[in-house]
Amino acid sequence: MNGRRVDVAGVAVATGHYINGTRVDSARTFEDRSPLDWTLKLADVSRGDGTDADAAVRAAAAAFPAWAAKSAAERAAYLHRLADLIDENVEPLARVECEDMAMLLESLRLRVISRGARNFRAYADLATNYASRRWDSNGTHNAVLRMPAGPTVVITPWNAPFMLSTWKCAPALAAGNTVILKPAEWSPLSCSLLMDLVDQAQFPPGVFNLVQGIGEEVGAALVSDHRVRRISFTGSPETGRAIGVAAARNLTPFTAELGGKGPFVVFADADLEAAATKAAVMFDDAGQVCLAGTRLLVESSVADDFLERLRAASAAHVLGDSRDPATTVSPLIHPEHLARVEGFVERARAHGDRVIFGGARLDHEGLWYLPTLIEPHSNDAEIVQHEVFGPVLTFQTFETEDEAIALANSTPYGLSAIVYTGAQSRADRLGERLRAGTIWVNTFLVRDLTAPFGGTGISGIGREGGDYALDFYSDLKMYQVKEDTTHG
Ligand code: NAD
Repeated sequence: MNGRRVDVAGVAVATGHYINGTRVDSARTFEDRSPLDWTLKLADVSRGDGTDADAAVRAAAAAFPAWAAKSAAERAAYLHRLADLIDENVEPLARVECEDMAMLLESLRLRVISRGARNFRAYADLATNYASRRWDSNGTHNAVLRMPAGPTVVITPWNAPFMLSTWKCAPALAAGNTVILKPAEWSPLSCSLLMDLVDQAQFPPGVFNLVQGIGEEVGAALVSDHRVRRISFTGSPETGRAIGVAAARNLTPFTAELGGKGPFVVFADADLEAAATKAAVMFDDAGQVCLAGTRLLVESSVADDFLERLRAASAAHVLGDSRDPATTVSPLIHPEHLARVEGFVERARAHGDRVIFGGARLDHEGLWYLPTLIEPHSNDAEIVQHEVFGPVLTFQTFETEDEAIALANSTPYGLSAIVYTGAQSRADRLGERLRAGTIWVNTFLVRDLTAPFGGTGISGIGREGGDYALDFYSDLKMYQVKEDTTHG
C-alpha cells in the first residue's frame, strides 16, 4: 500500500490516490508548493482523471452493502480506532499540514488535528446512540428509521483541510455510507496521511477512498457520477453552484458549506477591550476563515475608543513563519490568492474607500499581507459585499440597534455573526433578528459538535453537525406495523 512517497517535514507522504484499500499513482501530476517558501516544491501529486473517479466510485459502490449492513456499533469501532490513530499521529499530521497550507504549527498541534479525532469519536457515539422516533397512531406502531444513503463524495477546500475533511467524512461513515474524499489541490497532503491511518485501522477496502486532483477535472467527474448518492461540499459559492447543477442532474442530495462575510457588531455597552481583542483575532490564519466576522459594525459613540484598541491589538500581531511559536499571522496559501486579496484592496482604494491601516504586502519576499482595516465609502462597496478570505476587515458605524441589524443583514451571505454587548435582552433580540447559521454573543468559534452548522443565503444549503448530519447522510424511512399483528 506504499505508493510513491516524498519527504515533507521529515514525514513520508504518499502522493497518490487511495482506492479500494490500495495506493494508486497517476501518470499525470500537479505541483504542490509550500506557502512558507514558495520556491519549495513539496510534491508532484497524482492528478486524477475520469478513470480514477470511476475506479473510486466503483470501489465505494461495491463496499457499500456490507458496510451499510454492519451495526452502528460495529462501524463505530472502526471510527474509534481511527480517532485513536489520529491522536497518536498529531505531530506528523501537524507538521505536514503546516508545511502544506501554513496554518500555525502550535494551533495544529494543540487543537486542530485532535479536532479530527473528536469528529470521528463524536459521530461514532451519536450514530450508536441514535434513538429512532417511535409512536402509535391510526391503529399502527410507527417508527422513523435511517437507511444508509450510499456512496458519498466529499469535496473540501484548502483552508483547514484535515479538520474539514474529517468533519464531513465522519458522519457519512458513521451513518453507513462509503466515502470518496477529494481534498483541494492547494493543500492535498494531510488527507493523504489520513489514508495511511485508515489503512492501519483496517477499514474494509473501498469504504474510505481518496482521490487527488483538480476540481474541474476529477472533482467534476465524481459529482457527476449517478452511482453517488450524497455529495457533501465545502468551498466557494461559485463551485457550490456548479456542484449543485451536477447533483441535480442525477437527483443526488447535496449539502454545501460556502463562503462567509460575517458581521462583527459592537454596542456601546460592550466590554470594548474584549471586543477589540477578539476583532484582531480575525487576522489569525491570515483571515482565511469562513466563519470570521469581517465586517466591523461599531456604535458611533464608542467608535474612536474601539478603533484605538483594535489598532493596538492588531499591531501586536507577528507576521512570520508558521512554524515559529511567536508567529500569529501566517502567509496566505498561494500567490494567486495573495493577488486576489491585493486586488480587492486596490479596487477599494480606487473607489474611494479609506485604508485605515495595512493595505499592503509585508515588506519582504513571501506571501504575507498586512492586517488591513478599510472604511468603505458605502455599504454597497465591493469590499463590504464580497468575501475577501484574507486579513482584511471593514469598519462601519451605526447609531441605533435597528440600523446595526439592517447593516448586519445586508449582504447575500449568512454563515455567522458575532455580537458584543453587555445586555442579555439586546443579545436575545439580535439572536432572533440576525440572519446567519451561527450567532455568537461575546465569544467566537465555540463549537458543540452536536449543534447544527451551516449557512443561509449564498453561504450554503443544508446543515451539518450532530443528528442533522446523520440525517443528511441517511434516507429516512417510515416503518408502520398494524397494531394487532401477531407475534411469531
Ligand atoms: P473552491 O470552491 O475553489 O474549491 C473547493 C473544492 O472544490 C476544491 O477541492 C476544488 O478542487 C473543488 N472543485 C472546484 N471546482 C469543482 C467542480 N467543478 N466540481 C467538483 N469540485 C470542484 O474553494 P476554495 O478556494 O478551496 O476554498 C475557499 C472557500 O471555501 C471560501 O469561500 C470559504 O469561505 C469557503 N469555506 C467555507 C466553509 C464553511 O464551512 N462554510 C469552511 C471553509 C471554507
